[in-house]
Amino acid sequence: MIANPIPWPDGARCAVAMTWDMDADSAFNWYNKDTADTLVAAQSWTRYDPLIAIPRLVEQFARRELRLTFFVPGWVIEKYPAQIDLLAKHGHEIGLHGYLHERSNEIGEDDELYWFGRGLDAYKRHLGNGPRGWRAPSFAFSKYSLRVLLDAGIEYDSSLMGDDIPYALREAGSNRSLLELPTDWTLDDFPHYAHNRDLGYRMPISAPQRAMEVFRSEFDAAWEFGGLWISVWHPALSGRLARFKAALELLDYMHGKGGVWFARLDQVCAHVQQLIAEGRWSPRVETLPVYDSPLSEFARSR
Ligand SMILES: [Zn+2]
Repeated sequence: MIANPIPWPDGARCAVAMTWDMDADSAFNWYNKDTADTLVAAQSWTRYDPLIAIPRLVEQFARRELRLTFFVPGWVIEKYPAQIDLLAKHGHEIGLHGYLHERSNEIGEDDELYWFGRGLDAYKRHLGNGPRGWRAPSFAFSKYSLRVLLDAGIEYDSSLMGDDIPYALREAGSNRSLLELPTDWTLDDFPHYAHNRDLGYRMPISAPQRAMEVFRSEFDAAWEFGGLWISVWHPALSGRLARFKAALELLDYMHGKGGVWFARLDQVCAHVQQLIAEGRWSPRVETLPVYDSPLSEFARSR
C-alpha cells in the first residue's frame, strides 16, 4: 500500500509518535484579541492545559518510560516556565509552535517573520539551543514558511498532511530541504472534543471510545502497512480525565500488539536523516510552494 516503504529501527512494523500541542491560553488570546480578558470561563478552559494536564501527563508518561514531543508557542514558554522545565527534565522534546499561536498564512511574510523570530528568541532564551522541529499553529503553514524554517536551521516540520511516511520539502529554486513528518486531521483531537461556545467551537462531543476508534484504526493501518502515526493532541482536550484514561489504554493496546517503534519526532527525524546519509532509503521530494499565486485561470480576460 505504501509505494516507498521506510525501514523502521529494529524491524519495527510502524512508528508511533504521540505528540501534543501545548497551546495553553495562546491561541485563545490570538483569536480573541479584544475580548480575552473578559472570557473568564474560556480562560480557565485553556489554562487547564498547563496547570492540570501537563503535570498529569508528565507523571503518567514517566511511569511508562515514554518520552514524547510537545510543540509549544514561545509565549507559553515565557508564561509557564516551570511546566517547560518539567517536560525537559523528563526527557520530552520541545518543538516550536509559533509565538502567540499566530496563523502564519493570514498575516503576510513580514509579520510571519516577526512572530517566528519572537518565538525562536523565547525558545532559545529558556532552553539554550534552538528547536529541531516545528509545527505551524493551526496547521497554517504559509508559502513563505519553508524558507523561514530553513533560514532558522529547523530540521523537520510536522504540519503537513501529504503522505503516510516522512518526505522531503524542497525550496523552489534551491537545493535546500528539510524533512516533513506528516500527520492528518484523523489524528487531531479537535474534531472530536473541541466544544466551547465562547471560542466558536461547536463540535458534538465524542465519547473517548469513539475518538479512540478513529485513532486506533489509523494505528492498525500504520502497523499493517508500515506507516507513521503522529497524533496532534492538546492537553486541554485529551488531558481531561476520561479522555486521557482512554489515551493510556490506547498506548497499552499498541504495546500489546508489539513491533511498534515509540519515538519522539526528533528521533524519527534523526533516523530518517541517517537512512538517507547511508543511502538506504530516499524520501519522496515535494517542492514548495506548489502555487506562487492564485491560479491564472481565475483572472478575468478583457
Ligand atoms: Zn496549537
